[in-house]
Amino acid sequence: MGMLDFLNGKLKCIVCSAEAPRKAMVVGFYEKKAAVCRTHMEQWEASGRKCSSCQSTVSGLQEVAFQADRKGFGHADCGGIRLQP
Ligand SMILES: [Zn+2]
Ligand SMILES: [Zn+2]
Repeated sequence: MGMLDFLNGKLKCIVCSAEAPRKAMVVGFYEKKAAVCRTHMEQWEASGRKCSSCQSTVSGLQEVAFQADRKGFGHADCGGIRLQP
């Protein structure tokens, strides 16, 4: 199975393996698709939007990516899977 598993219309989170509908997820596309619970992104935003790669803040104008190797969010320029709005 790939990083994104479609299960009866639900997506599987690559952080916690929870299954939830598309609208509860943020989804990235970069060759492979990846789904992450919105709650993980909300927690990341609440904790100051620190890039998991370079540890500096991701500003609202910078593109966000999910860095699967670190199970965290960060700058798209620091690598990872770019998130779709
Ligand atoms: Zn999750
Ligand atoms: Zn960074």
